[in-house]
Amino acid sequence: MATTQPLPDGIPVLIAGGGPVGLALAALLARHGVRSLVVEADEGYCTGSRAICISRRSQEILWTTGAGPALAAKALPWTGGRSYWRNEEVLHFQMPHEPTQRFAPMVNIQQYHVEAFLHDAVRQAPDLVQVAWSSRVCAVREEGGGVLVDVETPEGRRRVRAQYLAACDGGRSTVRELLGLQFEGMQYEGRYVIVDIRQPTRRPVERLAWFDPPSNPGSTLLMHRQPDDVWRIDYQLRDDEDAEEALKPQNILPRVASHLQMIGEDAPWELLWASMYNAKCLTLPTYRQGRVLFAGDAAHLVPIFGVRGLNSGFDDAANLAWKLAMVLQGEAGDALLDTYSEERVPAARENIAYGAKSTEFMAPPDFAFRLLREATLRLARDEAGVRSLINPRQSAPVAYRSSSLNAREQGEWTDALAAPGQPAPEALLQGVHGTFHLTQCFGVDFTCLVFGDGALPHAVAGLANHGVAVLDIAPEADPHGQARARYGLPGGASTGLVLVRPDGYVLGRWRGLDPAPVLAALQQKGFKP
Ligand SMILES: Cc1cc2nc3c(=O)[nH]c(=O)nc-3n(C[C@H](O)[C@H](O)[C@H](O)COP(=O)(O)OP(=O)(O)OC[C@H]3O[C@@H](n4cnc5c(N)ncnc54)[C@H](O)[C@@H]3O)c2cc1C
Repeated sequence: MATTQPLPDGIPVLIAGGGPVGLALAALLARHGVRSLVVEADEGYCTGSRAICISRRSQEILWTTGAGPALAAKALPWTGGRSYWRNEEVLHFQMPHEPTQRFAPMVNIQQYHVEAFLHDAVRQAPDLVQVAWSSRVCAVREEGGGVLVDVETPEGRRRVRAQYLAACDGGRSTVRELLGLQFEGMQYEGRYVIVDIRQPTRRPVERLAWFDPPSNPGSTLLMHRQPDDVWRIDYQLRDDEDAEEALKPQNILPRVASHLQMIGEDAPWELLWASMYNAKCLTLPTYRQGRVLFAGDAAHLVPIFGVRGLNSGFDDAANLAWKLAMVLQGEAGDALLDTYSEERVPAARENIAYGAKSTEFMAPPDFAFRLLREATLRLARDEAGVRSLINPRQSAPVAYRSSSLNAREQGEWTDALAAPGQPAPEALLQGVHGTFHLTQCFGVDFTCLVFGDGALPHAVAGLANHGVAVLDIAPEADPHGQARARYGLPGGASTGLVLVRPDGYVLGRWRGLDPAPVLAALQQKGFKP
C-alpha cells in the first residue's frame, strides 16, 4: 500500500508496527478521539494465515474498533472440537456457550483478513489515524516530555515527536532492541510445520486433533477450517528431522495427502503456505519504559496452543487505549499507565502458564511427558473423568485480581465472577428499541450498572455529569434475569451499583444506590470525574 501523506512533526501516539495489535490500538484510540500515527515496515498485510482463532473477548474488542461487521460476515464460528488417539475418538468438547450470547466462543479467520478489516476501520477516521506503510522505526529517544522517533520512509528519514510511543512491532521488536530490553522465559524444542491448503469440505467447523494417527505415526496433528475453503494443518516434526527439508513441498505433500486420505477428504487440493513454529514462553518483565509502552508480540510471546497469542495482544490494546486516552486528555495522571503493565504482565504470565501446559500435551518435551500423555489418552477412551486433561483450554480473558485499580468490594454479592478485576459478564437486555447485549455498552466510558428497585434515583443519574455512563438495569430491562444473576444480585429486591471500566472490566461494586462511593473510588484511583 502506498503512503502518500507526509509524516507529521508531532503526534500524541506513535504506534510502531501496523500488525493486528498496532491497528487495533489505533482504532481504539480513535474511538476515544486520540490521534495516532501507525508506522509499518511492510508494504501491506501479513503473509500466511498466522493467527486464525479469534476468541469471544477479541470479537468484543474488534466490534469496538469498528471491524466487527466485516469479521462477522467472513469468519467461521465454532463451539467445540474432537481429539483422536490413533483412530479412536477420545474427547468431544464444547466451550461454554448459549443461544442468547452475542458471539460464538471462537471464530476462525486468517490474520490477514483481520488486519484488512482493522485497516478499513481506521480509514473511517482519517483525521485521527494515519498509517505509514513501508516505513520503519529506526531510532527512539526520550527527550523533554516526549519521544523522538526516527522513521525510515520511502522518501527518506523523518523525525516525529510523539507524546507516547506504543511498541507493537512484533516478536522481533526493533523498539525493544533499541531500548536494550530482553525477554525473560524459555522456549520448547518441539517443532511444528504449519500448512494452509485449499480444499472444499462439508465438515463442521471444529478443532480437530490427532495423537499418533495412522496417517502420520508418532506425530500430533491439528486441523482447523478457515474461510475461503482453506484448511490449517499443523503437524509435529520428529526430533531428528531437518527444518529446512521439512518445509520443502515434496516433504509436506505426502504427509498432508496421507492424512486427508485417512479422514476421507478426497476433493482436489493445493498447498497455499507453509511455515515452521516452535512454542515460546517469553515476556518482558515490564511493559512500560517511561513514555514507551509495549503491546502484543513485542511484549510477550505465548505458545499458539490454546490460541492466546493474538487474542492476548487485543486485550493489551483494549487495556492500553483508554488509559492513554485519559492521560492525554487530562482525565487521569500519568501513573495510570503503570497499571497497564501491572495488569498485563501477570496476564501474560497466566497465558504463558496455560500455553505451556497445552504445549507439553501437544508436543511432550521429554520421555516422562510422553509417557504421561500416552497413559492419559489410553485412559480417556473409557474414563470420562480423564478427558478433561486432554481439553485444549482455549483462550479466555484473564482477571486482574490484584490490580491497584480494583475498588474494595462493599456488601454481600453472590457471584465472584463479577468481582472487581473480573471481565464484566455478558447479559442479554431489553431496551426501548429491542434487545441488546450489555457488552455493546462498553468501550469508551466508565459505565455504572444500576440494579434498582424502582425509578432511577436522581443522584445516580447524576453520575453522567461526571463522565460515567449510567445504565439502568430495571427488572423489565433484564427479562432473562441474566444480569442480576451474573453480577451477584439474583432476585428482584436487592439493589446495587457496579462500575465497569471502558475496557469492560469491573472496577468495583457497591450494595445500595448511593453514588457517593462510586465517585469516591474514581477519585481515589486518580481519575478526575
Ligand atoms: C504460524 C502462527 C500461527 C499462529 N496462530 C495463532 C492463533 O491461532 N491464535 C492467536 O491468538 N495467535 C496465533 N499466532 C500468534 C499471532 O500471529 C501473533 O500473536 C500476532 O501476529 C501478534 O500481533 P502483533 O501485532 O503484536 O505482531 P505482528 O503481527 O508481528 O505485527 C508486528 C508488525 O510490526 C512491523 N514491524 C516490525 N518492526 C518494525 C519497525 N521497526 N518499524 C515499523 N514496523 C515494524 C511488522 O512488519 C509487523 O507488521 C500465531 C503465530 C504464528 C506465527
